[in-house]
Amino acid sequence: MTDSQTLFSDDHAAAADAADPLRGFRERFHLPRIDGVEQAYFVGNSLGLQPRQARAHVEDVLDKWAMEAVEGHFRGNSQWMTYHALLGAQLAEVVGAEPTEVVAMNSLTANLHLMMVSFYRPTAARPAVLIEAGAFPSDRYAIESQIRFHGFDPATDLIEVAPGDDGLFGIERVAEAIATHGHRLALVLWPGVQYRTGEAFDLSEIVRLAHGAGAVVGFDLAHAAGNLPLRLHDSDADFAVWCHYKYLNSGPGAVAGAFVHARHATTDRPRFAGWWGHDAATRFQMGPRFEPTPGADGWQLSNPPILGLAPLRASLDLFTEAGMPALRAKSERLTGYLEALIGAGLSDVLDIVTPADPARRGAQLSLRVRGGRERGRALFEHLAGVGVLGDWREPDVIRISPVPLYNTHADLLRFARAVAQWSGAR
Ligand SMILES: *Cc1c(COP(=O)(O)O)cnc(C)c1O
Repeated sequence: MTDSQTLFSDDHAAAADAADPLRGFRERFHLPRIDGVEQAYFVGNSLGLQPRQARAHVEDVLDKWAMEAVEGHFRGNSQWMTYHALLGAQLAEVVGAEPTEVVAMNSLTANLHLMMVSFYRPTAARPAVLIEAGAFPSDRYAIESQIRFHGFDPATDLIEVAPGDDGLFGIERVAEAIATHGHRLALVLWPGVQYRTGEAFDLSEIVRLAHGAGAVVGFDLAHAAGNLPLRLHDSDADFAVWCHYKYLNSGPGAVAGAFVHARHATTDRPRFAGWWGHDAATRFQMGPRFEPTPGADGWQLSNPPILGLAPLRASLDLFTEAGMPALRAKSERLTGYLEALIGAGLSDVLDIVTPADPARRGAQLSLRVRGGRERGRALFEHLAGVGVLGDWREPDVIRISPVPLYNTHADLLRFARAVAQWSGAR
């Protein structure tokens, strides 16, 4: 154990940062400044920072449009006709899938709807969807509306698993719910990382349990993609959806992602179709009959927003260069340091909600401020005032997500000192 005084020293943080093999990646991002002060930015779980290279990729598209107009679809390496395919292999690597299992398209919620059209097929005997209580509202709205769309009733057919008193589920609660409701479940839709608490789940184990009960399994990976090393293909999940503006640094409202397992590549399940999902080889024969492209590409609706995809290229290049194993190793070090700082000097102010076991969390720690909402808001405002940016979740939680691509031990020390200064504890 490193003693408290050492943990809170500049030398300790500086030495850890100097020894970091990924230290060079920070300068590949724009770090936000407010009133000239560089932020200690811990909100990469909400909006990831802009890769410096993103602008060049966007400008390439603008230039191509200006110079070549419609011919831009067909000319050069980054022609628009095959632009989304430039991303496939790198994106697949980030989520542990085969390139034909992933596609960048639409937004997260739109993709969740499209996936549910194919993979939520309720019957009178099996109408139900299992989700976590306190799910992200958009997911809940989407699921409820799908249940109603099929003529079923969310009051009985949306089953919400309650967490324990500590707000966490553990695999035990998932297993218990599946054992109880399994015979009625059409679909289990579970988060890779729960957005409020930062609790991470063993995807393979959830798939094993749900498939064992005869249900289809989908994952919302909004807080897991680009955060944890995922093995989506091996997990055997039926589908997954995620966004690219959080840990994947592709800008506000960025084009999202979807995964469809290879075993569904040529499924005859129903789907909502569009021309971009049609077999690419014959798409421009413009025939009346829809023949889907095998794999995840077959769920595309429209020709993709190339300007929206451009920043994702810049981001994925960084993920490829750094590699998920190295990113995860650094992420564990950073989050472990944050945890140690809190344990050593801030535990009279903050309780850690997120599991202590690194295998059950990603980058984020959710911190409950002792003393209730007013006190919590006051601390949050203080931190923001000194350029330390986390995010606030009602009623009393501050989420801090050190991101291994651009955060440092020095950032975390800044956070800890700001909390200590506010509380007068040090
Ligand atoms: C961020 C997030 C969303 C956002 O949905 P959009 O369709 O991208 O606006 C949805 N679900 C979860 C769990 C999220 O964390």
